[in-house]
Amino acid sequence: MKKEKGRRNATRRWGRDLSALVILGTAVWAAGPLAGEISFSQDFDSGSLNIEETTVEGAETDEPVITLAPRNILSTGRWFHFDISGVQGKRPTFRVPAVRDANRAHLADHRYVFSLDGGETFSYFKNGDRDGDQYVFTADEPFAQETVRIAYSLPYPVARTVEHTRGLFGSSWVSPIPGSDRQFVVDFSPGTEKGGHRDDIGREIPRLPIIGYRITDPDADHEGKFRVVLTSGTHASETTGNHVLEGKIDFLVSDDPVAAELRRMAVMDVYPQVNPEGRWAGYMRSSPEAPRVNVNRDWHDDPQNTPVKTLTEFIKSATGGSAAVVIDYHSHRDGEMEIWDGRDDGNQRPYFRFLKDLHPPLRFLHWRGNGSVSTWARENLNTVESFIVETGFLAGWQAEDYHDFGRNNGLALLQVLRAIEKERAANEGN
Ligand SMILES: [Zn+2]
Repeated sequence: MKKEKGRRNATRRWGRDLSALVILGTAVWAAGPLAGEISFSQDFDSGSLNIEETTVEGAETDEPVITLAPRNILSTGRWFHFDISGVQGKRPTFRVPAVRDANRAHLADHRYVFSLDGGETFSYFKNGDRDGDQYVFTADEPFAQETVRIAYSLPYPVARTVEHTRGLFGSSWVSPIPGSDRQFVVDFSPGTEKGGHRDDIGREIPRLPIIGYRITDPDADHEGKFRVVLTSGTHASETTGNHVLEGKIDFLVSDDPVAAELRRMAVMDVYPQVNPEGRWAGYMRSSPEAPRVNVNRDWHDDPQNTPVKTLTEFIKSATGGSAAVVIDYHSHRDGEMEIWDGRDDGNQRPYFRFLKDLHPPLRFLHWRGNGSVSTWARENLNTVESFIVETGFLAGWQAEDYHDFGRNNGLALLQVLRAIEKERAANEGN
């Protein structure tokens, strides 16, 4: 009985945190436009737009031209997520500065998304292309409602991580990692309350959960059990990586025989949103706490981001300093699927080869970034395999498509563990 009570109380606390996130989004959505004016809002979980510098030409016409301005936060221009109001009967064209990095060349294949139900479901705009230094897209037809939500690609707000995690509470295969609480919260980010920082437009940052949980078969308790660590959300704008990891998690807790085999072979610790403040505040690669620091260069002995400091210590302790496989889920180039690995022979490794068979466009990239999750893991967790899966922003892909890719990532994991097992057996034979 006592146990039950503890759980209910903890759930209520968690519920309050979640409501706070949800209410913020809803309040803005319900606010509505001033009659006859085009206006913008971005003040919700993972929203992002520099409203002050966004311009509207021809607001009184049926075909206004809107030039979106990015917020001024490290490597600007990739993440937009906002509500536009006052557009009923109008067919706007949007002009966006093209991002100043490797993505730029790929923007011709990119498609923005829009939602007519406040972010519940998204559809892709059918057009979009480079025009000099800008990327341009136009609504397919006049909007039939006053307020429309628009985003760079499928969003993945912090609230979605919280909701998805809550959905795992009843699973026999999911448990807290020792050191976290019963609701799978490793700790809370500092927010404005503890850290004093605000975002680039002066907003207070809430304290957000740093979530971590363990997937394994508790009845299969043996010494040779592999340690696996899965992370996502390192880069705040890379939402499709979170969708892929969500699909992989759903697979790992499913009745699929491969998932059952994985749970018997491995203890898999999942940290689905490692930069919650950056995601919440709509940043690209950094966070309000350390706006000039790329979070995937911050994994070292002196991290500038409190959640990274928390997690580097926590993961070392939770794994006992050793994990065979560490995979960090990102989204980088538009239209591309890649695996980034520091090993020269990474393209011969089982994970890449297995996924390449299922997804022929998958490319291999040799990359070894100092301070990245994968390099930190290689240096601190004695990994056999440590790499990044970059799913990109794939035009037309719905959450289910990313989930399918996540499922195939689960199947690939079994190939890796079997290969390591074979190598170990061969070494023992020598
Ligand atoms: Zn990234």
